Amino acid sequence: MRIVVLTGAGISAESGVPTFRGSDGLWEGHRVEDVATPEGYERDPDAVLAFYDARRRAVASTHPNPAHRALARLEGAIGDRLLVVTQNVDDLHERAGTRNLVHMHGELRRARCLACDARPDWDDDLRDRPRCPRCGERMLRPDVVWFGEMPYGLDRIEQAVVACDVFVSIGTSGEVYPAAGYVALAAAFGARTVELNLEPSDPAVPLDDVRAGRAGELVPAWVEEVLARR
Ligand code: NAD
Repeated sequence: MRIVVLTGAGISAESGVPTFRGSDGLWEGHRVEDVATPEGYERDPDAVLAFYDARRRAVASTHPNPAHRALARLEGAIGDRLLVVTQNVDDLHERAGTRNLVHMHGELRRARCLACDARPDWDDDLRDRPRCPRCGERMLRPDVVWFGEMPYGLDRIEQAVVACDVFVSIGTSGEVYPAAGYVALAAAFGARTVELNLEPSDPAVPLDDVRAGRAGELVPAWVEEVLARR
């Protein structure tokens, strides 16, 4: 059985990483247009670099929760028949032990050089304009995919989605494309579709199994069901 799991900010909420869209429509008190678009970066690079420096520091003091750990357990049991596709820029899946993982919206712990396109691992602040370890220019930005930019790994993700038997969406509002379209693609190719989310989202197609609640409870329970059925 091939499984694709798509995760969003909701899976990390119980680890203490705030989700994207609070009721005020702001991300950590900032307008999305200011901190998650290339135009926002052009307007005020210092503010954007400082924003992601703060996010990187905040995530460093968090820990994977039972939902991340359950997915790592599932990979331990079924290996590369599980692909986790995350929209999250935190590293909680890999810290829980997941290896077969695509960060489609990039990673806080990686930088990208606007001069030479290197993508070095990065744990420090970027606002002081450090040099790129490859070319020496001071043009590093967070390797995070902003609105209007091309997500990573799309070919690999689409191949896995059309070939999977089960597609599971966890902790995502389903408002950001192309990720939001994967559930319909999976259904069109015959997969069973499951949603585990705090509140039911408004998917483009009816899902086979919708469970409302906290990821920290729903995901371990779902993983146990899958493992029991093998
Ligand atoms: P979103 O904030 O738009 O939606 C989060 C969803 O999670 C909501 O539907 C909410 O009901 C649900 N949720 C909240 N708490 C939950 C819980 N405890 N258990 C289960 N579900 C819960 O997030 P999104 O759909 O991922 O889109 C936002 C974009 O913002 C992503 O592309 C991502 O790059 C970025 N982002 C990432 C992080 C992170 O890396 N942790 C955090 C904030 C934003």
